[in-house]
Amino acid sequence: MSQNISDTYASQLQQMRTEVLAQLRAQRGGKVGRAESAAEARETASDDWAQADAERDLAFALEERESAELVAIDEALKRIADGSYGLCIDCGVGIATPRLHANPTALRCVACQEKIEHAQGTAPPAGY
Ligand SMILES: [Zn+2]
Repeated sequence: MSQNISDTYASQLQQMRTEVLAQLRAQRGGKVGRAESAAEARETASDDWAQADAERDLAFALEERESAELVAIDEALKRIADGSYGLCIDCGVGIATPRLHANPTALRCVACQEKIEHAQGTAPPAGY
C-alpha cells in the first residue's frame, strides 16, 4: 500500500478517534459518567429501579462499544505505522479498498470475516 493511501486512512482514523473520544466525553458530561448518573437516579427514585437499571445498562453498553471502537482505531493506526495495515490478519491478503473505506478498522478480508461470523453464528451449511 502506498504511503499516500496510508496517510489517507491515518487521517480518517484520527478523525474517527476524535469523534469517539468526544462522544465518550459528552456521555460522561465531565467527570460523572452516565452510568454513575443512572446509579444516583436509582438511589433517589427508588420506585423506578427497573428503569434506572435499564438506563445504566444502556450507558455501560454504549461506553463499552465506544471503548472497543477506540481500541480498534488505535490498533489500525499501529498497523499503519508498522506497515501491516490493510492486510488480512488471518490470511495476509490485501483487504479490498472499498471495504477499508467503509470500515477503516477492518482486520480481515471479507472471506475470513465471513468464516468467523459463520463460526460464531449459524452452523455452517452441510458439507461446508
Ligand atoms: Zn483473509
